[in-house]
Order: sequence, then C-alpha cells, then structure tokens
Amino acid sequence: MTRIECPSEAWDRYVTQHEEGCEVCLNHIDSCECPECPKCGGVGDSDCYEKHDLEPAHDSVASFCDWVGVSPIRSCLKAIDSYDDDGLVLVMRDGRSLHSASDKEVKYSEELKPWERIGRVIVTGIAWDDSDWEYEEVVDAGNGWSALEQARDNFKDALEKHRLLTEMEVQDEG
Ligand SMILES: [Zn+2]
Ligand SMILES: [Zn+2]
Repeated sequence: MTRIECPSEAWDRYVTQHEEGCEVCLNHIDSCECPECPKCGGVGDSDCYEKHDLEPAHDSVASFCDWVGVSPIRSCLKAIDSYDDDGLVLVMRDGRSLHSASDKEVKYSEELKPWERIGRVIVTGIAWDDSDWEYEEVVDAGNGWSALEQARDNFKDALEKHRLLTEMEVQDEG
C-alpha cells in the first residue's frame, strides 16, 4: 500500500516549498517546465492562468475536472464518490493527497487552484461484501488521462472477477 501523507503535514510543507520553486510546476526555478504566457511572456506565473487565459497543463486540476465532466474539483470528487464503485486519490505534485471518499479531504480540495498540477492518481476500492478484497493501482496524472481510464477499467474487471469467484464459492458450499 502506498503511504499517503496526512494532508495537514503536506499542506504545511506546501507553504515552505512555495518559497523555493516555481509556484505552478513546483520545480526549482532553474528547471521550471511551464509554458510561456502568450499575453505577457511570463513563465510559471499563476496569475497568467487566471488573468491571461493561459491553458492549464495536461495534468492540472482543471484538466482532470474536464475529463470527469464535473467541475469545480470539490463537486467532481463528490460525483466520483457518489456514482462510481472505485475511489480516486489525487496525489498533488507536492504530496498533498485527496481521497474522493474522504469528506475532510474533499473539503480541502476547495483550496486547489484549477492550474495546480496533479502528480499521480491512485485508483482504489473495496468489494463492499465484507471480504478483505481491495484494489489499488497508481498511475501518472494527465496525458489525456488514458492511463487513469485504463486503471479504472482494470478495477471494474477485477471487481467483476472477484464477485464471480465469490458466487462460485457460495455455490460450492451449498
Ligand atoms: Zn514552472
Ligand atoms: Zn501572462
């Protein structure tokens, strides 16, 4: 199981990191990978996303919401929790993590800016049948979210298989 940092620890660290690196991609200023703003020529300036219509990155919170089809991020995580069997943990580049099934963490998501970058996403879930069956798959964020889509399909397949096996066991016992 991947260790997920307690959100409050990570939020404290986030504030310190802000002073050393690019505020958008969180890399050191020297290796900033942010695009140049077509309007002002700024690089790694969060204002450009809010004021100059700079397109958020492929692995940003905004891109994730677009992919799910629900925004803002808090409603997006809530929708996943209400309508899907799996849960998603968004692990931000700075280590903050937000689990769609945790009310507290979903509430934290309100603080996220649309341009903030997601590092990895963990697809996780249980079978809801009192068994200890558990699923977990970690994928990189972004890139059209195809890895995430695949991981969510893998979850469905694995859950289906688990349910079939459980049914067969029940029949054997009967
Ligand atoms: Zn940057
Ligand atoms: Zn700009």
